[in-house]
Amino acid sequence: MTASNPSPGFTTALVHADRRAGIEHGAIRKPIHTSVQYGFERVEDLIGVFQGTVKGGFNYARQGTPTTAALEARITQMEDGIGSITFGTGMAAICAVFLTLLKQGDHVVSSQFVFGNTNSVLGTLGQFGIEVSKVDVTSVDAVRTALQPNTRMVFVETLANPGTQIPDLEGIGQLCAERGLLYVVDNTITSPWLFRPKAVGASLVIHSLTKTIAGHGTALGGSVTDTGLFDWSRYPNIFPAYRSGDSRQWGLAQIRKKGLRDMGAALSSEQAHAIASGAETLALRVNHASATALRLATFLAEHPAVAKVHYPGLSDHPQHERARKLFKAGAWLLSFELRDANRLVEVINRLNVVIKATGLGDTRTLIIPVAPTIFWEAGAETRARMGIADGLIRLSIGLEDADDLIADLGQALA
Ligand SMILES: *Cc1c(COP(=O)(O)O)cnc(C)c1O
Repeated sequence: MTASNPSPGFTTALVHADRRAGIEHGAIRKPIHTSVQYGFERVEDLIGVFQGTVKGGFNYARQGTPTTAALEARITQMEDGIGSITFGTGMAAICAVFLTLLKQGDHVVSSQFVFGNTNSVLGTLGQFGIEVSKVDVTSVDAVRTALQPNTRMVFVETLANPGTQIPDLEGIGQLCAERGLLYVVDNTITSPWLFRPKAVGASLVIHSLTKTIAGHGTALGGSVTDTGLFDWSRYPNIFPAYRSGDSRQWGLAQIRKKGLRDMGAALSSEQAHAIASGAETLALRVNHASATALRLATFLAEHPAVAKVHYPGLSDHPQHERARKLFKAGAWLLSFELRDANRLVEVINRLNVVIKATGLGDTRTLIIPVAPTIFWEAGAETRARMGIADGLIRLSIGLEDADDLIADLGQALA
């Protein structure tokens, strides 16, 4: 980046983000701060950190460290938000949003195609007296129909796993803006490189940093970013303690204080550093894996042993035009159905390069048969309702050369 370029590109801004903060000894990478406690010369500053009048201060690592703060700044920059909070996992970030911003008697409209563990949390909300409607978010009409006077929040994922459905992200954004609803978008699979939810009016953006952003399968983490678009002064569930000062900060203040303090699912400095290092290659990795995914999807779609391929980059995907309009590329997640579900085990066992493992967004390509694993607990009825066929296989595309992956799948399917 040159000083004369006022708006550097995505990756330039990303790799130079931390050194701008004036790191000691001229280090060009932010170090890992391992201290749990933070001391002060003057007790007034300790008091100020507690009362929030000293900005950017630290007191106890459960609430954040300089290393998690540096990662939060990077995520905020990538998502063009006003602030972010990191958590120990993506699930912790999702739980923090639901449990700190909703209360008994509230209603949430959620996508019916959410990540399995998120679905599990939505079930738990019901036990606390929070109603959840699960709808087909590929159409905004389904969301509109589900709205109730007590609806507070609409929750969607940009690109569903394993079916790759894409919500009417723009239509839902407009609806939420009209009705003053909190619009929460899980951008884990697409990442801010392929799509910025702020562009469609998202209030909060969630990530499992474990996946696309960290990208190397060596760190767990999660985040919540406030885009600055939501008017918290009109949100009834902000506690009196957080209703002071700039109302744009109220939501994050409550999620940080209640989410990190009460739930305690803090991200460690070591993991934050690993995630920040992984994030530097986000655009390069996602471009490569998306190009590979498109080639593989095209190969599989033409293969006689394959009944169906789910990938938004293919022209027969139901939301192909939406993906083209909103996303830079089709991302690195695809699934396909074998014509003969009885061959599931045999085909997968023949693979040599692709790894038989759960998980997403690794440098290695991972494969998993969906019905007998991640959707086993859901039961046959739910699988049928969600369109999960017995022969459905999910692929998380890594960084291997496309030719090697095509050859491996080709010999396995033959
Ligand atoms: C994996 C995942 C999560 C949960 O993240 P963890 O870091 O594994 O807890 C949430 N949302 C989506 C879309 C995911 O793929």
